Amino acid sequence: MRSLDREVFTQELLNRIEKTITDYSLIDSDERVAVALSGGKDSVLTLHALHDFREKVNFELLAIAIDEGISGYRADGLQIARQHASELGIELIEKSLKREMGITLDQASNFHHTACVPCGVFRRYLLNRTGHELELDKLATGHNLDDEVQSFLMSFARADTRRFGKFGPKLDRIHPKMIPRIKPLWKIQEKEVGIWAVLNEMDVHMAECPYAYTSFRSNLKNYLNQLEEKSPGTKINLLNSFHKSFQFEDLLMKVELHECKRCGEPSSSSLCKACEIREEINQIKNV
Ligand code: SF4
Ligand code: ZN
Repeated sequence: MRSLDREVFTQELLNRIEKTITDYSLIDSDERVAVALSGGKDSVLTLHALHDFREKVNFELLAIAIDEGISGYRADGLQIARQHASELGIELIEKSLKREMGITLDQASNFHHTACVPCGVFRRYLLNRTGHELELDKLATGHNLDDEVQSFLMSFARADTRRFGKFGPKLDRIHPKMIPRIKPLWKIQEKEVGIWAVLNEMDVHMAECPYAYTSFRSNLKNYLNQLEEKSPGTKINLLNSFHKSFQFEDLLMKVELHECKRCGEPSSSSLCKACEIREEINQIKNV
């Protein structure tokens, strides 16, 4: 592709991300925002897009990387995350599950039928805890349109309607210790992020997690990709239907959060999910 095409594509993509940020008021001036940076293409694009957006709105930008402890996989992603943060002059804060929670994901995966459950719970927990240690106003994630549609359908399939409140480009603060999350790539397809990375010769972590095959999400992703190939526009239509059918903010407000009796983090029950999983693992270990 000629360089002009690359520039046109990239600018159009950045304009659409910026439109999502402004349409949904994701970032206000003088806020302190961090990107959850894994080194994968989505979080790398989020970091670059927010870095560029600072030319229009003045805000502070940081990045947080979580080392889940997945051998043969995570180290490369972290290296790429460090490289992008350093190139853009953005401070990167690194946290590891082993250091902060006393367990690696490889160890936790022995006690769960799918590693993705403890992985998602521990990662969200550490990101939020680090977020309020850093006194962030917002935490930006690289969730794209494909991730959003997959998450919605997964909650549908599990009849887990409480999770509907987590959809939409912005999750407001419903507890003093809960950092509002924003999704600047909410309307960007995964395929477009891939094209951006290739056209701009971005160094991104492309390897697939060794546990990915165990997840319901990965089956759903393949199915949605097949549907999109046969009927282009399926994914954006699904996203628009969800958006029109549900008032996400109202659903979120129905979830009442307390503080976990063990760690003090926000939780919808007396023990947060991260403490619950750690307790389950300890019980199995002691049998
Ligand atoms: Fe974690 Fe599962 Fe993603 Fe691997 S595929 S990083 S285990 S959520
Ligand atoms: Zn807890």
